[in-house]
Amino acid sequence: MDSVLIRYHEIALKKGNRAYFTELLKRNVISAVKDLGVKDIRSLPARLLLTLKSDIDQATATERIGAVFGVANFSLVERTPRDMDALRERILDSLDPSTRAPALAAGSCSGFRPTGVLEGATGLPVGLHGGRFESFRIDTQRGDKTFSLTSPEINRVLGAAVKERSHARVDLENPEFTVFVEILPHDAFFGFNKIPGPGGLPVGASGRVVSLISGGIDSPVASYRMMQRGCRLIFVHFHSAPYQDKTSQEKVRELLKRLTRHQFNSRLFLIPFGEIQRQIVAAVSRPLRVVLYRRMMLRIAEAIARREKAKALVTGESLGQVASQTLENMAVIQQATTLPMLRPLVGMDKQEIIDQARRIGTFDISSIPDQDCCQLFVPKHPATKAELADVEQAEAHYDVKEMVRLGVENAAEEEFSFP
Ligand code: ATP
Ligand code: MG
Repeated sequence: MDSVLIRYHEIALKKGNRAYFTELLKRNVISAVKDLGVKDIRSLPARLLLTLKSDIDQATATERIGAVFGVANFSLVERTPRDMDALRERILDSLDPSTRAPALAAGSCSGFRPTGVLEGATGLPVGLHGGRFESFRIDTQRGDKTFSLTSPEINRVLGAAVKERSHARVDLENPEFTVFVEILPHDAFFGFNKIPGPGGLPVGASGRVVSLISGGIDSPVASYRMMQRGCRLIFVHFHSAPYQDKTSQEKVRELLKRLTRHQFNSRLFLIPFGEIQRQIVAAVSRPLRVVLYRRMMLRIAEAIARREKAKALVTGESLGQVASQTLENMAVIQQATTLPMLRPLVGMDKQEIIDQARRIGTFDISSIPDQDCCQLFVPKHPATKAELADVEQAEAHYDVKEMVRLGVENAAEEEFSFP
């Protein structure tokens, strides 16, 4: 088996943008599997058909395609001649592990068990003779309308053959498994079951944004959610070395290795923030410090965003979670930038955020203890209702422009790529 049938939701597509959207999706799918040897990728109505140069390692293909945003679901499929006899024989063979070597199960298939029909070391639908499934249906799409049979006719012919061999019944509404058949101009494909994709929009469809990533639990989840909405992220991390150790930087690198699986290339700007914090601390009294730090972070992130042609800033803020995230403080912090601020977690509960962090594989990395730069020189009881006038008065005591320049100039850049 060397092909994958990839489905996306038409709903997400405005008519005029469809070609652009599918081009991006195609490009991203190719990026996700480029080291596996791409032979061909074709656009079919609401679907893409990806063919690799050699047999698919199912676990790897499932993991890779399952991380591409814009993919609603997909099926691993096998190519056959465009001929009803050949199609029928190949389908019956594949369903019956007693009659053939498990070509459908090349390699290990842990993780490739979409509905429970695929089981055991082979990953094959457990044999028709084993009687382990009761119902099925055939779902045919004809990409080539000149084929001698219509889709319902193909469904009937193949359905009758599977039924005869298995004694399972046809259930169009709620089958235990589905055999997908695609008839194309030069060949045909079949496969079993749909593996869910991550949905969303292809990365790049919504443009570039700068994500402020801290090494905590929230900002990686916020980043993931914006990638899922089609944003390509550029990452900015502020650290307080040499006043604090480098664990937060190490964590951010590990987080980026995970997140980059979804956008294939990431750029990280590491900004030394300790000296800026020291200057702020020297100039103003305690309660406002966290708000002042945040406003400096936004200004520096904005300067980077403008240089990188990014259109918005992303943070992991969640309303009321900590003192800096009251509505009053968020409002004052936000006024340091004129770029739109995207806060995908603003209405989420901490437990919901943690659950998602676990699902996307960032939680364990985020949970490693570190020294966050916002903890440096801050009071036990920070202001929860900062006033813009007070904040601006405080900022008059130091050279904001010069600090932004320093931050941008001293930024270290790192690149990440996947695979
Ligand atoms: P997180 O879990 O993302 O650190 P948090 O609950 O700790 O969030 P805060 O520390 O108030 O919340 O940070 C709010 C947001 O500000 C973060 O989600 C992140 O987007 C940004 N931020 C905070 N610290 C940093 C940092 N050191 N570098 C980059 N961005 C940061
Ligand atoms: Mg934090």
